[in-house]
Amino acid sequence: MTKILARAADADGPVASECEVRIKDGVADLDEDGAIAMPESLRIGPFDYTVVEKPELECEKSGNIGHLDSGAFEIGVALHVPPQRQAEVMLHEVFHGVFRGFGFDLDHDLEEKLVTLLAQGMLQVMRDNPEMIAWIYDRIGLKP
Ligand SMILES: [Zn+2]
Repeated sequence: MTKILARAADADGPVASECEVRIKDGVADLDEDGAIAMPESLRIGPFDYTVVEKPELECEKSGNIGHLDSGAFEIGVALHVPPQRQAEVMLHEVFHGVFRGFGFDLDHDLEEKLVTLLAQGMLQVMRDNPEMIAWIYDRIGLKP
């Protein structure tokens, strides 16, 4: 079992609150700095997505710092933006995946608004309530 300490930090970095989250082996890998590495893949609904770093040049060309390609089953997240934005982008793309993976076909602009609302709202709830995240993990069996 891997023991991960999840922290909710304020915008300047100091730890505002923390709680212990236990994650099964293999769920989270640490990078060379000891930070949790971006997952290499995600399963959303019936689909497995490869998660890649979205290159800065591609972001500049497209005007987007994230993408979900439902044809290639790929999610891209820019890592040259601040960590908080990376987290929001990851959630944003995951919610796009939820809409597509579970067959909820919406007008593009409406989906974009809903996904943005859900990602920013969920990120706020997760950030301000790390104990809830630990409790949810426990409820679904992600504990030692
Ligand atoms: Zn979007």
